[in-house]
Amino acid sequence: MLQIYLLHINIMNHYDVLCVQNTASTDDIKKSYRKLAMQNHPDKGGDDAYFKSINAAYEVLSSPTKRNAYDNSRTRPTPTMFNDINVVFNQGSFSRPTKHVPTPAKQVILNLSLNEAFTGCNKELHITTDIPCKTCSKLCNVCNGQGHIMKTIRHNVGNFAFCVQNTIQMCEQCKGKKIVKNDNNSNCKMCNNSMFITKNVTINVVVPRGVENNLRLKVRNPLNSNEELHVITKITMSSNYSRKGNDLFYTLRISIFDALFGNVWNIPHPSNTNIIIDRTKSPDVIRNNESITLDNKGMNKESKLHVMFEIEMPHKRKNECSNEEMTCLKKTLDNIFY
Ligand SMILES: [Zn+2]
Ligand SMILES: [Zn+2]
Repeated sequence: MLQIYLLHINIMNHYDVLCVQNTASTDDIKKSYRKLAMQNHPDKGGDDAYFKSINAAYEVLSSPTKRNAYDNSRTRPTPTMFNDINVVFNQGSFSRPTKHVPTPAKQVILNLSLNEAFTGCNKELHITTDIPCKTCSKLCNVCNGQGHIMKTIRHNVGNFAFCVQNTIQMCEQCKGKKIVKNDNNSNCKMCNNSMFITKNVTINVVVPRGVENNLRLKVRNPLNSNEELHVITKITMSSNYSRKGNDLFYTLRISIFDALFGNVWNIPHPSNTNIIIDRTKSPDVIRNNESITLDNKGMNKESKLHVMFEIEMPHKRKNECSNEEMTCLKKTLDNIFY
């Protein structure tokens, strides 16, 4: 009976509020909602805030679209001040495992050419990082160099239970910096009193073959073990190339003459080789936006390269063509193609 008070209303988990598993069917959610709403109706002495949270949770979980969006949002890490929740009853207790307190992350862009992304490579990243000044700073003794402190708040829920909510708050003394000024050094020339010294770091990043764009690689900052570096890949596509998943797309611009009579083209491939497209022997003309697909030539062995022909129109104006030339051209084209 008392498990309905399991969680404090501020906790952003609708499943917990409705006392159902996140795999629960719509029917189970409905049943649990009805039961909880009846038991906790403010007219029957229920907690008003908890009743509202039951309704809010049901509004989301009863709609497949909203539930889906909610489930997706839960899989993404969200900044949260809740770290550890213990809910205590007069008949027992329930606790959630302590979540890891996120360490601050510095984002660094790793620029790659398409060729580098295709073949994989070693890249050096030069970044700057702030490290505590040893001359004038010391570890904050209030938070023990954590930058935050845990505060416990007790909330009564209804008449029978209460929540113990542990929240993480920024340390007031060091303002989250983890260090404070050393007493005997109030005017430090080493860091201009900022308590931090900026250092240059070079990190070698091993880029795997066929790496994706916008991939986030997590690397520990070698100068500051408390800082995580998020290296994000930014691939610059070579001209005429685009990419969808691991498939590559190449736009091959050809003249009207080549579209009619064919030609041999060399396409630069990100594997640092050339791919030969030979359309001299084909009896068919090439149509605009026609494409050919080459297996195993995408970003990996399982993916494809799609070569799309784009017929370039002449840049000259047609009034520069004489009547004789026009007649001759029409006659030739009619003879051959129609
Ligand atoms: Zn200093
Ligand atoms: Zn502190």
